[in-house]
Amino acid sequence: MAQQAETASEGEVLAAAQMMLGARYAIALTGAGMSVESGIPPFRGPGGLWTKHGEPPMNGFQIFLADPKKAWEDKLRRTQGDELYAALREARPNPGHQALVEMEALGVLRCVITQNIDNLHRAAGQKSLAEIHGNFALIRCLECASRFGFEQIALDELPPRCPVCSGLLKSDTVAFGEPIPRDVLTRCEEQAERADLVLLAGTSATVYPAAGFALEVKRRGGRLVEVNLYESEITAVCDLSLRAAAASLLPRLARALAGLRAASRA
Ligand SMILES: [Zn+2]
Repeated sequence: MAQQAETASEGEVLAAAQMMLGARYAIALTGAGMSVESGIPPFRGPGGLWTKHGEPPMNGFQIFLADPKKAWEDKLRRTQGDELYAALREARPNPGHQALVEMEALGVLRCVITQNIDNLHRAAGQKSLAEIHGNFALIRCLECASRFGFEQIALDELPPRCPVCSGLLKSDTVAFGEPIPRDVLTRCEEQAERADLVLLAGTSATVYPAAGFALEVKRRGGRLVEVNLYESEITAVCDLSLRAAAASLLPRLARALAGLRAASRA
């Protein structure tokens, strides 16, 4: 992968901060670029897990439903030596995740919608969070949508059953072919409806439905601010594009927001 230079200037960071402070209701949409500095390998692109090992089956959810016991056995076997799971277990939030928590504490950022399953926004302390593709550290009931930590569920009998309703339990990570859980989708729709600014961090916003939320805000006259090392398909409709890694740019943006806030109160 060609090394991409970080080109976002202080002036651009300041402009983004002013745009965010001028918004009535700002939300963020984050993707894989957010977690690179936390050691989570990307799925696609050079060095990506799917590039190296092949894409998972596009009907993963149907395979799970056809034989949940076997799917659970395969999953538990796979998580032992798997490159992604090793990285997920080791990963810690990076300064980009921390910066979004600071923006929330400032009252500037109202919600983070993430496409990442790596639990890092939650681990950083983000309070208003919608994990649209689920969370690898959780188990979800397909009937009542209750979530549980792995330590709360006995896995000696497979497939495990929900302690609340006896429904079938599955990893919270949304599989290919699986509908986005209704509760998360509703939350995202509500947030997108209220938002008049979306901060896109580390995502090319080409994966639906997440991309649709940003475009919907734009269509209603809202603004899009992009933080990404690379130009992407959504760049053309962004009001401001900051070319930098999320882990280095978001802390600069959080500092600018805090500075402007302090100055306006002085
Ligand atoms: Zn249940």
